[in-house]
Amino acid sequence: MPEASANIGVVGLAVMGSNLARNLASREGNTVAIFNRSYEKTQALLDEHPEAGFVPARTYQEFADSLQKPRTAIIMVKAGGATDAVIDALVEVFEPGDIIVDGGNAYFPDTIRREKAVRETGINFVGAGISGGEEGALTGPSIMPGGSDESWVTLGPILKSIAAIAEGEPCVTHIGHDGAGHFVKMVHNGIEYADMQLIAEAYDLIRRGTGKSPAEIAEIFAEWNKGELESYLIEITAEVLRQVDASTGKPLVDVILDQAGAKGTGAWTVQTALSLGVPVSGIAEATFARSLSSHPEQRAVAGGLPGPDEEFTVSDEDTEQFIEDVRLALYASKIVAYSQGFDEIRAGAAEYGWNIDLGAISKIWRGGCIIRAQFLNRIADAYAATPDLPVLMTAPYFAEALARGQASWRRVVVTAAQAGIPAPAFSSSLSYYDGIRADRLPAALVQGQRDFFGAHTYKRIDKPGTFHTLWSGDR
Ligand code: NAP
Repeated sequence: MPEASANIGVVGLAVMGSNLARNLASREGNTVAIFNRSYEKTQALLDEHPEAGFVPARTYQEFADSLQKPRTAIIMVKAGGATDAVIDALVEVFEPGDIIVDGGNAYFPDTIRREKAVRETGINFVGAGISGGEEGALTGPSIMPGGSDESWVTLGPILKSIAAIAEGEPCVTHIGHDGAGHFVKMVHNGIEYADMQLIAEAYDLIRRGTGKSPAEIAEIFAEWNKGELESYLIEITAEVLRQVDASTGKPLVDVILDQAGAKGTGAWTVQTALSLGVPVSGIAEATFARSLSSHPEQRAVAGGLPGPDEEFTVSDEDTEQFIEDVRLALYASKIVAYSQGFDEIRAGAAEYGWNIDLGAISKIWRGGCIIRAQFLNRIADAYAATPDLPVLMTAPYFAEALARGQASWRRVVVTAAQAGIPAPAFSSSLSYYDGIRADRLPAALVQGQRDFFGAHTYKRIDKPGTFHTLWSGDR
């Protein structure tokens, strides 16, 4: 039996797991046990990084024996059945009090199910969302762990040691019990979809309106990155737009097929929002925009449908104002997307009984993850001032930004519609803004229709109770 020399283990040594294992090994005091289903990956990691002092295992039993108690292992394997297979194997060789962490992209209901099943064995199970891709895993991700308070005692210091640091604070906090961590990671990814789509719409409008080249638009984004839009996604957008394709000499963005892929976390965010009754229209439109792009056969058929009669061009003298309008529309729409995302987390916490600190979440997203941005400090400020803020975008800083940007936002949405340029995330965000601030909505008419055909009843503004009208057309 090998000596129990490791204080933490990693199962699954593909790109994410091997980088996370290296990150763990680089921190003072950590000795990392490693295991992969096929030994080749374990051997490759040992060969490439002898400095890490990894403790390799060929079997789950050897892996368990190499870990100090309480044993702590982070699983980084393919989400779904592979995760269940690894959990089943670890449960066989672990003991009560040990901790199994799933760091993959699990769907939170699976995490709730797994946590319940593993808890019955006395072993702790923690679903931890890990954001930041392979680079983040290596240099410091944003980590969103769920699970019990007991497991956080052991796990907290380890995760704090490998997480990204933003303004002196590690980008990890105990989100809440069972599936809370994976729920928050899911919404993070949904917000990421919205953010990316909004940036893409901004690019498209500027390009088609002004005729500027991708390289010129890259400079605009680089400039925007110095202001209130400062974020990782704006920064990398400038890089992507600057890139020239080596084989054709064209801007790379013009050579890339315009069909966006998705791995499902955007769809999960929208499906969950639908069942919670939370409108996350920005995230939904971003997810649908990827779906629309990925149906070339339909796009080929629909390509013959007419657009506006006149060609869309922004005159030279209007160009500066138009670009500023797009910038403000992007910022306003982004505020809506985040407001909606936080609304979904709030609703999820209420539904599943999680005590989630929304301000703490915005803080751990400031570093390591894909949506990292200055802007998140403003969200933290908003929740620090009013922890139970019902609509994030009504916080003074955001309300002021929306007031400042709304005229531009409206101009941009009108322009996009008149020019025949799709801007689903811009326009749905504006509709949400106008809907949520409206004094009175046509929902009254919808209730009337529902009562008409289905006797669904309605409530009145002037007296309590539930009413049904005997409509003249009642069947
Ligand atoms: P991956 O390609 O998703 O999975 C490959 C790993 O899973 C390999 O180690 C493979 O072992 C193992 N595996 C597959 N089926 C297995 C089974 N039945 N039993 C045991 N092991 C099995 O790896 P990845 O890209 O590194 O991602 C790991 C996790 O992180 C995934 O859940 C993924 O969704 C998540 N992820 C997150 C981010 C992020 O930004 N946060 C980015 C990428 C991935 P073999 O070598 O033996 O095949």
